Amino acid sequence: MSEKTKRTLPASPSGRDRMAAPGPALTDTLNRPLRDLRISVTDRCNFRCTYCMPKEVFGREYQFLDRADILTFEEITRLARLFVGHGVRKVRITGGEPLLRNDLEKLIAMLARVDGLEDLTLTTNGSLLKSRIRDLKQAGLQRVTVSLDSLDNDVFKAMNDVDFPVERVLEGIEAAVEAGLAPVKVNMVVKKGVNDDSVLDMARYFRERGWTVRFIEYMDVGSSNGWRLDDVVSAAEIVKTINAEMPLEPVDPEYRGEVAQRYRYKDGSGEIGVIASVTQPFCGDCSRARLSADGKLYTCLFATKGHDFRALLRTGKRDDEVAAFLRSVWKTRDDRYSELRATATPSLPKVEMSYVGG
Ligand code: SAM
Ligand code: SF4
Ligand code: SF4
Repeated sequence: MSEKTKRTLPASPSGRDRMAAPGPALTDTLNRPLRDLRISVTDRCNFRCTYCMPKEVFGREYQFLDRADILTFEEITRLARLFVGHGVRKVRITGGEPLLRNDLEKLIAMLARVDGLEDLTLTTNGSLLKSRIRDLKQAGLQRVTVSLDSLDNDVFKAMNDVDFPVERVLEGIEAAVEAGLAPVKVNMVVKKGVNDDSVLDMARYFRERGWTVRFIEYMDVGSSNGWRLDDVVSAAEIVKTINAEMPLEPVDPEYRGEVAQRYRYKDGSGEIGVIASVTQPFCGDCSRARLSADGKLYTCLFATKGHDFRALLRTGKRDDEVAAFLRSVWKTRDDRYSELRATATPSLPKVEMSYVGG
């Protein structure tokens, strides 16, 4: 059953008719086009979110990628151009923490010049945003998503595990709004018994400011966060909690493959999104590929193995040869991990989100 048909407050199917204008796109074995590319620019992070990079695993001894192994800006841009030539319309820069990558503004400027790329966006923990956002915007960044898991300092600090205060993330978000990047989206991963008490506070605070919060079900990415199904707060529960205080109604998806289910406040004061990857998987419309910082392409967040594009670039392959490899990878893609989650083999080694990019 698709994500849309499962919704408790049903949306009109007409949302599918309002997809982004399709250009030539590759399709995979399940007829899903390649539309979105998430590019991880570093596997490092200055936070140690317990659900992503727990300190016990990502400690002092952890071997992050060597600088020489990481794609250069020229390599990333070359690949982005080839991907756009095969249907990608949206690029999201991510990580690790993407603002830890030196001179990220330069990469943004290079990507902003790629013909046919319609949406250039960034996901960040917000810690370094305040001082960088103007330059990023000037370089051509169109939108930004900031992750924030609670407005309660104790809860947030326990989750980022580096004692980072809420206030500084809020300053980053405000700086983004001032720089003209509104509406900013805010991502909150909800973990049962950890920050589920913060859901209403987050909804209230950002509703007043007209910024959209996207509540994300805690996912079983990687193999280091000790995920258990019992820790997941379902999107349906989140919607129910908010709806009880601030009535909501569903909004049609803007385009096929939209990850978040959208709801608006009935009084017209804005909207929220919920990302129900665990309880209502949306593999059927998944048009995303992920490029790791060292140039491996993952066709699913839960893939166990990436396709090595860096090797092609660094052995002097021509554009048409790299493009042929891309076509062969996407055309044979059959991933639908979230839909198979119950029956799949969760014991297989999975890549970490901080490496492949969320
Ligand atoms: N460091 C940046 C940040 O936190 O926004 C970008 C990378 S982070 C891996 C991208 C997104 O993945 C964040 O919004 C984060 O909350 C989310 N994320 C990480 N681990 C997750 C998990 N186990 N379940 C659900 N979302 C997760
Ligand atoms: Fe870092 Fe983002 Fe992962 Fe948190 S979610 S540890 S900020 S990469
Ligand atoms: Fe896409 Fe894989 Fe997530 Fe399914 S599990 S929505 S195929 S990334």
